[in-house]
Amino acid sequence: MEKDFEINIAHLYPELMNIYGDFGNVCALKKRLEWRGIKVNICKISMGDDIDFDKYDIYFIGGGQDKQQFAVSEELQKNKDGFQKIAEDGAVMLAICGGYQLLGHYYQEQNGSKLAGIGLLDAYTIAGEKRSIGNVTIETDFLEPKTLVGFENHSGLTYLQGNTKPIGKVLVGHGNNLTSHEEGAQYNNIFGTYLHGSLLPKNPAFCDYLLQKAICRKLNDNGYILPEINDRLECLAHDNLINKSY
Ligand code: GLN
Repeated sequence: MEKDFEINIAHLYPELMNIYGDFGNVCALKKRLEWRGIKVNICKISMGDDIDFDKYDIYFIGGGQDKQQFAVSEELQKNKDGFQKIAEDGAVMLAICGGYQLLGHYYQEQNGSKLAGIGLLDAYTIAGEKRSIGNVTIETDFLEPKTLVGFENHSGLTYLQGNTKPIGKVLVGHGNNLTSHEEGAQYNNIFGTYLHGSLLPKNPAFCDYLLQKAICRKLNDNGYILPEINDRLECLAHDNLINKSY
C-alpha cells in the first residue's frame, strides 16, 4: 500500500565522489523504502548546482581520491551554511571516506596543504604515511545486530573532538586512525564512516535506522516505526563478513 508521503534523497556529486561503488548506499536506501510502499525521489546534485535545503530528507556523499576531494571541497564550502542548518535541524546525512573527511574541519594532505571541510562533525583528518586497506568489522551501541561490516581503503587518519562520537569500536581493521580503535563519527543525524562495501546493502539495520530517523523528522512523529521486511539475504551477506580480515 502506497504511503501518503515521499522521501527525497540528495546524492551529492556522484560524478566525482563514487569510489568503490558507494552509490550502492543510495540504491539500498531507495529499495528499502520502495519495498515498504514509500515513494522515493533521488536527486543527483552536480558541481555548480544550487541545493534546496528545504527539499531533502537524506543527503549522501561517497568517497573519492584526493583530487576529487579538492574540487568537491570548494563546492561544499559554497553551501556550508545550508549544510550546517540542516545538520542542526536533524536532517539525515551519510558520508563515506573522502566524503566523511570533508564533513570535518579539514583534511590535511601529506604535503601539508589543508582542504577545508564544512564542520558538521567536530573532527579533522591528516593524511597518513600508509594506507589502511582491508575488511572492517565494528561494534555499535545503537544497532541490533550491533555489528557493521565493510572494507576500508584510505590514508587519512581522522580524529574526533567535542561531542562528535564514533559510530562504533573496531573489532577488525583500523577505522578512523591507528590508535583510537574507533570507527566513524556521528553528530545528531549526521554520520561519517570509512566503510565502503557498499555499506548499507549488507548492513540493513543501519540502513533502516537512517530511514527511520528521516521519516520521523519528515512526519514530525518520533513514534513512527518502519514495517519489518525479509532481510534473509542481507543478513547472510552481513554475517559472512563478520570478523573476516582478508
Ligand atoms: N583520499 C582519501 C584518503 O585516501 C579518501 C579515500 C577514499 O575516499 N577511499 O584517505
